[in-house]
Amino acid sequence: MLFSPEIEQLPLPQLRALQNTRLKEQVRYLNARVPFYQRKFAEAGIDPTTFRGLEDLHKISFTRKSDFRDNYPFGLFAVPETEVSRLHCSSGTTGKATVVGYTTGDLEIFAEVVARSLAAAGCRPGMKMQNAYGYGLFTGGLGIHYGAEKLGLTVIPVSGGSTDRQLQLLQDFRPEIICATPSYAQVLAEEMLKRGIAPDAINLKFAVLGAEPWTEAIRQQVESGLRVQATNIYGLSEIIGPGVSQEDVDERGTGSYIWEDHFYPEVVDRLTGEPVAEGELGVLVFSTLTKKAMPILRYWTGDITNIYYNHSVKRTHVKMGPIRGRADDMLIIRGVNFFPTQVEDIIASLPEVSAYYQVVATRRGSLDEVEVNVEVAEHVLREIGLFDTLTEELVQQHDCLMKLKGSFAKKIKDNIGLSMRVNLLGCGQLPRSEGGKLSRVKDLRDLK
Ligand code: ADP
Repeated sequence: MLFSPEIEQLPLPQLRALQNTRLKEQVRYLNARVPFYQRKFAEAGIDPTTFRGLEDLHKISFTRKSDFRDNYPFGLFAVPETEVSRLHCSSGTTGKATVVGYTTGDLEIFAEVVARSLAAAGCRPGMKMQNAYGYGLFTGGLGIHYGAEKLGLTVIPVSGGSTDRQLQLLQDFRPEIICATPSYAQVLAEEMLKRGIAPDAINLKFAVLGAEPWTEAIRQQVESGLRVQATNIYGLSEIIGPGVSQEDVDERGTGSYIWEDHFYPEVVDRLTGEPVAEGELGVLVFSTLTKKAMPILRYWTGDITNIYYNHSVKRTHVKMGPIRGRADDMLIIRGVNFFPTQVEDIIASLPEVSAYYQVVATRRGSLDEVEVNVEVAEHVLREIGLFDTLTEELVQQHDCLMKLKGSFAKKIKDNIGLSMRVNLLGCGQLPRSEGGKLSRVKDLRDLK
């Protein structure tokens, strides 16, 4: 279903014209109100009255997370504090939290893009949605909440964590939709199985998952465990929150539509900052086109992905591929650039391992080493009658595990070009999400 068909299907030339008009207006607005941007424009020799829009956008230097910190808390606001209706903070995954503000109009836009996203995910007015995104300063909970209400859903605002309560409500209230981080949806799927809750004891049909990178292997686990169709929702506080882009339920695996009428995307080279060709991987950069409390131009998200048009009949907006990681998650191991999510593609191709893994980088002397810890699939362990914690000694006593370990390490070497030590673990040995984001990468090297 399309929540705003006219805008979601706006022919590209008209979409470009709309973006152009809006961008020119944002530049004039920021120049009149935010000293940080006034300086940026002056440095770039930009005269806001003659700024030509999209074709001049590249002249503006990137806005970075550090700019938010330098202007903490309200230095980037374009309206007086009395006109700010709500404050949020980013979750602080990569450092001190950053503050963002919204006018009532911005909150309307936020609700609109989330409503659009949920409709694309398969949600229909009248359905119930269990919102297991965290409520509070994090944009996820409230962001999804108001978008869901706008679409006409009944919201169950349970927030993240409290797995007992989540499972109880899924059975008692029988919502059709769950919103959660993918790692927490994995926990719910796993707990259902562990507790012997029959799939028909719940009524879920759709899962809307985001806030952290995830993969097809995780999609498979969540889809079969919760009997849902799971789609990706992406967003970040600095731009608005969740609902910057969303996957369509009928086009799963082909990318997420970016709501381009509000958020103008670019993908640039991680090192040079120059645009890359359509479809190439690089850092995602966004300019807000309609926000009023805190418009941001050319925000360097640090998220690595690609964008492309696939001329879908459903919508005209550009799509983005899955996030391959953050630029600062990229590990340089013995001179090879490596994103931990690359390991996930290999996991997805090996049915003998589960979707739970962790990448650990260490340094011995001057040599970087990477270990991949991965849980063996439950059916494999059951077949060989192993239910204990898996130790290296136990692995060595089982030919099939030694073989698995070998073929995993070989696939890593062949596909990524690095030798990594593989450690096989039993079910439940790796950390699980407690309701929020889960980090699957540990960099234990002291690089200073
Ligand atoms: P923080 O940067 O502190 O985590 P946010 O809560 O604003 O703050 O999170 C935004 C970030 O979360 C994005 O920049 C991205 O790295 C990650 N993220 C959000 N949604 C997704 C998604 N669907 N897939 C991958 N990563 C995501």
